Amino acid sequence: MARSVLVTGGNRGIGLAIARAFADQGDKVAVTHRGSDTPDGLLGVKCDVTDAQQVDAAFTEIEETHGPVEILVSNAGITDDTLLLRMSEEQFTRVLDANLTGAFRVAKRASRGMLKKRWGRLVFISSVVGLSGGAGQANYAASKAGLIGFARSLARELGGRNITSNVITPGFVATEMTAVLPEERKQQILAQVPVGRYADTAEIAAAATFLGSDAAAYITGAVLPVDGGLGMGH
Ligand code: NDP
Repeated sequence: MARSVLVTGGNRGIGLAIARAFADQGDKVAVTHRGSDTPDGLLGVKCDVTDAQQVDAAFTEIEETHGPVEILVSNAGITDDTLLLRMSEEQFTRVLDANLTGAFRVAKRASRGMLKKRWGRLVFISSVVGLSGGAGQANYAASKAGLIGFARSLARELGGRNITSNVITPGFVATEMTAVLPEERKQQILAQVPVGRYADTAEIAAAATFLGSDAAAYITGAVLPVDGGLGMGH
């Protein structure tokens, strides 16, 4: 049965791979964008996740076209790396607002329809850095760690209504976000990845479609690493 899926930040990168994977299996897929073109075959809804009104309007548009969102993949995220002493409060709160409060805004709005339907899947894209920490990434790591407590709270609140809530912690994925890292840093990271390579975006997407599937009905509150072994032990 085709489900109504929303992937935030699904216009490019990991989010686009996730959106395509759901669309390939026949689901009705919407993606948020902030003014860019929408990839073919997907419903683009303009939405900045830092703005609750835009979130509400995007969900209303999806409801009218695809029906209430049944599978939410909260993927939109940003980095703004710098060492603690140089990090302004604005840099800290801006990253938290996009990555963590943004997830709260979309999950809260999505839960309305899911509760009515008594079925839903919430998938949050965190990061291996949320568990291990990252020098120069205090804001980002805090936001990604926060997603875990958030998702597990929802797992407890909503489990009785057939709504699962899980987290994926990708390792190093080759996208625009990581392209900006200095070559030396990339090599350092790669040296710590047991499988010895970056992830392909499709490998993160496979975990997302699995968590959205009926086969994953008994998995909730889980943190699923897709990191080539980078985060083992955390
Ligand atoms: P990209 O930088 O390639 O894409 C980020 C996406 O998030 C874009 O679609 C962007 O939209 C969207 N976005 C950012 N801020 C907002 C906002 N306020 N409102 C709506 N959309 C927003 O990143 P990746 O694809 O690499 O990352 C996707 C997710 O995966 C992120 O949450 C990231 O933290 C996480 N991740 C990435 C890893 C990696 O190695 N790449 C590793 C671990 C986790 P727009 O096009 O408008 O900018």
